[in-house]
Amino acid sequence: CGIVGYVGPQSALDVVTAGLKRLEYRGYDSAGVAVQADGGLATAKRAGKLVNLEKELSERPLPTGTTGIGHTRWATHGGPTDANAHPHLDNAGRVAVVHNGIIENFAALREELTERGHELTSETDTEVVAHLLAEEYSACADLAEAMRLVCRRLEGAFTLVAVHADEPDVVVGARRNSPLVVGVGAGESFLASDVAAFIAHTRDAIELGQDQVVELRRDAVTVTDFDGAPADVREYHVDWDA
Ligand code: GLU
Repeated sequence: CGIVGYVGPQSALDVVTAGLKRLEYRGYDSAGVAVQADGGLATAKRAGKLVNLEKELSERPLPTGTTGIGHTRWATHGGPTDANAHPHLDNAGRVAVVHNGIIENFAALREELTERGHELTSETDTEVVAHLLAEEYSACADLAEAMRLVCRRLEGAFTLVAVHADEPDVVVGARRNSPLVVGVGAGESFLASDVAAFIAHTRDAIELGQDQVVELRRDAVTVTDFDGAPADVREYHVDWDA
């Protein structure tokens, strides 16, 4: 339901959890985060309100990282459990993805992945995306390209945001029939389903267009279509109170 991504000098966990709080009013049933740390990914997720996630994080603190993603879930496929909460990871735990919307063709993709030896551990439509991203990444070693290739295979409505352990300081997002906005800061960048998530940090924003992929770095925002062609971006200033 709510998505936040961050890359910059600050603690990603702090920025992401504060952003999720700004999106709480939309309603949700579970929450989770993933940060790049110590050459890998550290994740935490819990069914229920953000306070449950915060309790988990205080009992089992994550290592500090400056790149991360977060999600509040409104379950459509699979009940509101810890296992179904986002982020979802591939079996090696190298890629993490959060998702708003519905992947209509997830059952066929799930079957295909299972035949190739992947073990899916949730009941969500989302989890297939983590496994597909891992496969594509192992072939191209470029998370934005992996995202484009995966998106071309997905049907339905989605906002997707992902990080890969092997691509430090990069967050990748994609959208079709579901909103995704970039926040452009000074030496830091944000991604969210709603500008309210990052308006405390920057009011310079870029609205992603239909069927576009964005690669977010501290000092660079690159937007393409699903085929990799550069897209025109329209930066605007948010001058209302979100
Ligand atoms: N379809 C996904 C799920 O049920 C995402 C739901 C959402 O938009 O939060 O896990």
